[in-house]
Formats: sequence, structure tokens, C-alpha cells
Amino acid sequence: MAERKRLVAGNWKMNSGRADGLALARGVAERARAPHRCDLLVCPPFTLLAMVGKALAGSGVALGGQDCHPSPSGAFTGCISAEMLKDAGCSHALVGHSERRHTCGETDADVRAKTEAAWRAGLVAIVCVGETRAGREAGQAREIVCGQIAGSIPDGATAEQLIVAYEPVWAIGTGLTPTTADIAEIHAAIRGELPAGTRILYGGSVNPKNAAEILALEEVDGALVGGASLKADDFWAIAEACG
Ligand code: PEP
Repeated sequence: MAERKRLVAGNWKMNSGRADGLALARGVAERARAPHRCDLLVCPPFTLLAMVGKALAGSGVALGGQDCHPSPSGAFTGCISAEMLKDAGCSHALVGHSERRHTCGETDADVRAKTEAAWRAGLVAIVCVGETRAGREAGQAREIVCGQIAGSIPDGATAEQLIVAYEPVWAIGTGLTPTTADIAEIHAAIRGELPAGTRILYGGSVNPKNAAEILALEEVDGALVGGASLKADDFWAIAEACG
């Protein structure tokens, strides 16, 4: 089986204007010149894609969009298609982030359509899944996450086109993380549902202090990083925790 090279991906969310976004992108590109053992990806807001893409050129750091619409074009005011992301220089698209599932009401069927759109445009889809605090406390984390996988990932997935990010909703932006045993358990359950070789990232309050312990887990193939990706030093420290 092909080695699953780890990936550290930064989700900038709705942060950064031109000045700080450029400084951050340049900071990441600069640090990425040093030897490192993981793939790197940043997902800035749509408004910064072109500028950040230019700043990252030649650095080996990939560019991704934070979402995409299922349709290639049309009367969808305020939306961005997967084809537009590809045209802007992206190689990846995040889909199904919990902030979209929970604040925009996106369903598994929506996420599935977006994943298909990403593939149609030639992008790697990073499909996010994760249980709420209530789901975790009810002892249903595994069922919820496996249900999201079944509903959100189209037939015919391959390890080249798909990455899954396990992000417990209650761990995102809270400073809380599951135990490493809990992360390992859910990742192993997810792996059983995916094509061999598919990378599974952990996301939820990953920072320079906890990254090494989480990234050392056999089933963890990298991290999806929100808050800590907004500081080049912190993002790089997480990348370095890959070994
Ligand atoms: C995220 O939004 O994908 C995320 C993991 O955020 P944070 O690292 O801030 O918890």
C-alpha cells in the first residue's frame, strides 16, 4: 500500500485582508523552504486566493478553497464553483466543514454534491465530518461520523481524490481535544469506510503544544488547523511536529 504522506492544512476561515494575508502567505512560503516531512496546504478566503497563490508559487505549499458550490456556473449569487477554484490555482477544496453544516444548514447530500463538484473540476476534496458535543456525550460519535461518511462521499472515491478530516464540532476553536485514544478509535472506524490509502486528518484545536502527540498516532495522517494557521510560526511548528 502506498505510504500516506502527512498533510498539514491551514483553514484561515473568514480572516485576513490583503496586507496580513500576504504577510502570512509569505511567512508560510519562506518557512516551507526548510526541509519538512509533510505536504502543506493553505485555504485562505476566496478574496485572497489569487494573491496568496502568487505568494506561494514555487514553495510547494498548495492552495485550497474553503467551500464550493455543486454547480459549475450559473445564477447562484455569492457562491463560488469548484471550476472557479481550479481556475484560481487551487488543487483542493474543503467541503462539509462543521461551520457550514451547522451555520449554513448543509446536509450530507449537499456535501456529497460538493464533493462530486470538486472531483469534476479536478480538485482533491477534503470532506469534514465530526460529532457534536451532545453526540459525543450520548456515546454516538462513531455512528454519527460513519453516517456522515456514508452520506457525504460519492461512490467511486479514490485515495488520490479524497481526504477526510475528522473534526469533532466541540473541539473546533475551543481549546478542547478528544483523548488520543478517542481520536485513534474514530480514525480507525473512518478508515474502515474508505478506499485504502486515503488520508485522514484530525482537526480541532491543534496547536504547537499538542500537535506532536496527535500526529504521532498511526491512524492520523495530518492536521486541519484553524486558529493556529493564522500565525506562520505556529503553523510551521505543527508541520515540524510531523517529524
Ligand atoms: C477548523 O476550523 O477546521 C479547525 C480545526 O479550527 P481550530 O483549529 O481553530 O479548532
